[in-house]
Formats: sequence, C-alpha cells, structure tokens
Amino acid sequence: MKNSMIMDLHVHTTISKCSKLTLEEILDNAAIQGLDGVCITDHDTMDVRHRIDEGIQANGLCVIFGMEYATPDGDFLLFGPFEYLEPGLDARQLLQMVDNKGGVAIAAHPFRPGRSVSEFAVREGLCSVVERVNGRNKPEANEQTLEWFDRYDLAASGGSDAHSLEELGRTPSRILAPIAGRADFIEALKAGLIEPATHLT
Ligand SMILES: [Zn+2]
Ligand SMILES: [Zn+2]
Repeated sequence: MKNSMIMDLHVHTTISKCSKLTLEEILDNAAIQGLDGVCITDHDTMDVRHRIDEGIQANGLCVIFGMEYATPDGDFLLFGPFEYLEPGLDARQLLQMVDNKGGVAIAAHPFRPGRSVSEFAVREGLCSVVERVNGRNKPEANEQTLEWFDRYDLAASGGSDAHSLEELGRTPSRILAPIAGRADFIEALKAGLIEPATHLT
C-alpha cells in the first residue's frame, strides 16, 4: 500500500438524482484520472453499499463510503457509521452526533453562493476539515475559504463534487497515510493528514 494516497473525496453516483456519473464509470476511470481512491458521497444516503463492497477493489482502487448531508447551515461530507442516519438534523445536532459516533465531517463548498456553510461550525470547533477546493466551485468561492484557514486551525481537503465523468478527479486530496478502508480514512482526517493535491481554484 502507498504511504500517501491521491483521493477524490467528493463524488456522486447516479444514486444521487442530480448525477449522471455511474458507479461503473467511477471504478473504470478513477485510476486513469490519477486517483488511488474515491469517496462516494451521494446526497443523504450511503446506499452505494448495496452495490459494491467498501475498501480496496479488484483493480486496486480504494473506495470509501460516505455521504453529503444537507442542513439549513450548509452541506457536510460525512464519514462514519451513518448508514441509517435520520434526515432533518441541523448542523449543530449533526456535527455533535458525528463526533459522538467517532466519525468525521468536512464542510463542503463553504462559500458556494446559495449553499454556504455557517461559520459557527468551524468557529465552535464542531467541524475541523474544510473543503478548500471544490471542482464545481467558481474560483472566488474556493479563494474565500482562505479566510477561514487564516482564522481557525483547520485541515484542508479537495474534492471534485463530480456529477459527470468529465468532472471525476478534478481537484483531489492527498491523504498522508496509507488507506485501506473507512476506519483508516477517518483516523487520517481526524489527525489532519490531508491536503489538497492541487492548488488550482
Ligand atoms: Zn448533486
Ligand atoms: Zn456534492
């Protein structure tokens, strides 16, 4: 296993109604896009678990299951035992629950107009990983995240937010640890062993 891994942390399959990117396309094309792993983060569901097994696939790709959870205070990428998570939690309830269950949350595209994340989530230490670079954001929305990195002690991630094959792998993260499954991944993020693999915005 590699000591550091290039991973796309934010990928939607067709399980998300807004995505046309199939799971098969992800599995077949991730390595071509330079990825060692992908996190499947469908909107409000981890149903991808019914389609494939999590972890290292036959072709060597590391696949981690998470989800993108929408709250009135912004969207969060969640990793942990959240297969049966109730909908409708607000950000404070959600992030406290994530911590209690040993999971980790990433504030997704926090400055995207209309889908921004409320600053209290990072100010109050409820969320310590922030999506520094999102492949679907306008450059300004990625740049604005720097305000938070100046102000708070945060780890930075990158993710494509792919909803189509062209977007897959666009702005990945480098995980500074070997990753074989969800537990390794969560531990690495909690330890801040992550950085955007590209500084493109
Ligand atoms: Zn979507
Ligand atoms: Zn997304």
